[in-house]
Amino acid sequence: MIKRSFFGLVTPKLEYNRVPAPVKELPMPGKVVLFLKDSQNGGGAIAAKVGDTVRTGQRLAASPDSPDYVIASVTGTISALDSYLDAYGQKYTAISIDARGKDEWDAEFDNNKPTLDTAIRFFGFGPGTPSFTPFTDPEKRIRTIVINGMDQDLLLTVNQYVVQNEAADIKNGVQTLKKLTGIERIVIVAPENLVQQAGTTGAEVKVVSAAYPEGLPRMIIKNLFGTVVPAGDTLEDAGYFFLSAEAAAALGTAFSSGRLCVTKVVTVVGKDGKTTNVKTRIGTPVADVLKACNILLNDRDRLILGGPMRGMATYSEDLPVQPDTDGILVQDEAGSVEVTDYPCINCGECIRICPVNIPVNMLVRFLEAGLYEDAAAMYDLNCCIECGLCSYVCVSRIPIFQYIRLGKHELSLMETAEAAYE
Ligand code: SF4
Ligand code: SF4
Repeated sequence: MIKRSFFGLVTPKLEYNRVPAPVKELPMPGKVVLFLKDSQNGGGAIAAKVGDTVRTGQRLAASPDSPDYVIASVTGTISALDSYLDAYGQKYTAISIDARGKDEWDAEFDNNKPTLDTAIRFFGFGPGTPSFTPFTDPEKRIRTIVINGMDQDLLLTVNQYVVQNEAADIKNGVQTLKKLTGIERIVIVAPENLVQQAGTTGAEVKVVSAAYPEGLPRMIIKNLFGTVVPAGDTLEDAGYFFLSAEAAAALGTAFSSGRLCVTKVVTVVGKDGKTTNVKTRIGTPVADVLKACNILLNDRDRLILGGPMRGMATYSEDLPVQPDTDGILVQDEAGSVEVTDYPCINCGECIRICPVNIPVNMLVRFLEAGLYEDAAAMYDLNCCIECGLCSYVCVSRIPIFQYIRLGKHELSLMETAEAAYE
């Protein structure tokens, strides 16, 4: 039974929003900020320096062969290189670029042939951040590529908008994917109301239910392909490669036009629950997006990057729209549900709603105590599909979802450290 809604104006039916709002294209921002991760050097290395001029579509990295890079989304001058720590303490270099207002396109991408190597080198910082590296891993036998036309959270309509309005670009993306990977089976997953548009993309169409969280990849694989991905395995381990409809369209457009996609569609949800889709340059400060949508942030308002179930509250509207930012939500104090440090009362609501039957009441006790390995071994932490439903129904308002994300992150750090010693 659902006890709480996130927004006063949204009825708690827990169905995806299936009416994509038209997209409002925002003007080029005065400045963009791009976060460059450096997994090799522990954070921060970049070959460029303050004062350098960059062109739109230019690849910026520590070195030409570095796996970590960003793509400049405007033409302009690098005005600052700062350190940035994300919510999990991972280090980045925040590259600020003052935009000139007019694009001069970098030619490096256009000089590359459409190969897997090109896709790895240029699309990891595109919309949806698709990573093509699993195709180069001989241990992964990917047999099916799934283009997800459903959004990953309630209220968001980014991918549905793309299926509805950019099916021709997805069709180009389907052909490009076949060429890059040699894989013939490409499936597009879409809600029933977008089947007609999905059918024009040349991919096999599968219809996904509008009930949340049926659009999450592991639910799709289970319900539409009849495969359960074992705990701890990746989707690629099970033979599936997922990318968003927006990423597929960006791939198709880039290889047909010779220019990388440097924009992102974002669903903006205001305090009244009204949704607007905007298309803006990757790296645009959130403040610029809110201003364009006439949303004023007041003290004690809550700003969330992502959707209401899976998004992450943030502290600053100076943060940029990143390539995987599908939503920006603003809630006022009255509409925000505060988390608490009340203890679990064993009501069982979280267990009843969990789509993968995790004993969440026990899991949360181990996560609260920082016993992440035990949480994985005894209470199925790695089976969690990160839908956020347990947090949503918890009567004690325990931030279960945040504990789960932190637990998985800490476990992955432990595994990386262990692997380094082997
Ligand atoms: S987020 Fe909660 S409800 Fe969803 S799968 Fe994980 S434990 Fe279950
Ligand atoms: S974690 Fe929350 S929802 Fe789950 S049993 Fe405890 S109080 Fe109930």
